[in-house]
Amino acid sequence: MASSQASGEGKAANEYPVATDARIEQSGETVRLTMMLSSVVAVEAWVQAAPDRVIVEMPSTNFQIQSNTRKSVGFVGGYRYGLFTADKARIIIDLSQPATISKVEVKPVRGGFGEFSVELKRATRADFLAEAGKAKAQAQGAAQPPLAAKPAGETRRTVVIDPGHGGIDPGTMVSSISEKAVVLAFGKALKEQLEAGGRYRVVMTRDDDRFVSLSDRVRMGRNEQADLFISIHADSLMQAQDVRGATVYTRSERATDAEAAKLAAKENEADAAAGLETREEVQDVAGILMDLARRETRTFTGVFARNLVEKLGGSIKMHKIPLRSARFWVLSAPDVPSVLIELGYMSSPKDAELLNSPEWRGKAVTAVSAAIDSYFTRERASVGKAAEFRD
Ligand SMILES: [Zn+2]
Repeated sequence: MASSQASGEGKAANEYPVATDARIEQSGETVRLTMMLSSVVAVEAWVQAAPDRVIVEMPSTNFQIQSNTRKSVGFVGGYRYGLFTADKARIIIDLSQPATISKVEVKPVRGGFGEFSVELKRATRADFLAEAGKAKAQAQGAAQPPLAAKPAGETRRTVVIDPGHGGIDPGTMVSSISEKAVVLAFGKALKEQLEAGGRYRVVMTRDDDRFVSLSDRVRMGRNEQADLFISIHADSLMQAQDVRGATVYTRSERATDAEAAKLAAKENEADAAAGLETREEVQDVAGILMDLARRETRTFTGVFARNLVEKLGGSIKMHKIPLRSARFWVLSAPDVPSVLIELGYMSSPKDAELLNSPEWRGKAVTAVSAAIDSYFTRERASVGKAAEFRD
C-alpha cells in the first residue's frame, strides 16, 4: 500500500508483463474481472470507502486492453488501470453498491501465462466498511521515499515542469485522448527547449506515464529548490464546447470565480483517482522568515503569471479571462513561485485538434520559454530589488 512515488529505477516498459483480454462478468451476487497476463505475478487487493472501490496492486504492467471493452456490470460502475509508481500498477474498480473481495489470484496457465482474476461479492454496508477499515489501518505509516535534491554547487536556475496526472490517473478524457498524454508531450517539449538554451536545470515531476501524488509534486519543487514550478494541464467543459483557450492559474485561498474553484476542486482530486487517501499537507512553517518567503513567492508568482499571459497571448488563443486563481493543492509550496497552465479545453473540438498538433505545441512552448527568460532576466531582477528596499 504505497502512498508515494518510487524513486528506484524501474524496468523499461517493454519488459513489463502484458495484460490482455479483460473480461467482466456477473453471476448472481458475484462480479468477476479477469485479464490474461504474459507471466505469473503477485497481486494484492483491498477495498476503500468514500468513494467506494476495490484497489488491485501488482508489479508494473503493460495494459493492452481494447478501449471498447465493457467496463460496467452489476454493482461495478467501471474500472481503470495504469502505472502507479515506477514498479507498481493498479486496477481500480468503482463500486456502485457495497461489495467485498472473495478471491484475488493469478493462476498459472500453459505457456508461462497467468490468468488474473478478482471476484467481488455483494455485501452489506457494514461488512464493506469493516473491510475498508482494516485496509486503512495497514496503509497507515507507509514511509515516503527520499526525493532528489538540488546538487551542491549548481548555479543555474532550476525550473520544475509538472505534467499533470499520469499512470492510473488519466485526467480529462475526451474520446480516446487523455489529458495525461497531452500534457506529458508538452512538458517534454518544454524541457527540451529550455535545456537547449543551457541556462536552466530542468527537472520533470514525471517523464513517463506514471502516477505521482500531488504532495510528492509539491515536495519535489521544494526539495529541488525550484526557482519556478510550472504545472501543465488541459481542461474540459463538456456543457460548453465553444469555450476555448489557455488560462494561467495561480494559487489563492479564494477563487477568482466559480469555474476556477470547480476546476481546482477537480484537479485536487487527482490523488483520490489513484486510490490514495491523502489530504493537502499544511505547508505553513511559522516564523518571520517564512512569512517573508511567502510574500516574496506571491510577488514572483504574480510577475511570472503576467509574463506568461503576455507571451502566450502573443502566439496562441487565450481564454477570455486568461489569468485566474483558486486553491490548487499542487501550487501550495510557500517558497516556490508556482503556476498552473491549462493549455486549452479538450472539450472544444478546435482546441483538442490544436493540443495534439506539434506545430501548435511548438508555438506555445516557445512562448512559455520566452516568459521564463524574461522573468529571470528583466522582471525578477527589478522586483527583487524593490522587495529588498521594502522589507
Ligand atoms: Zn488536469
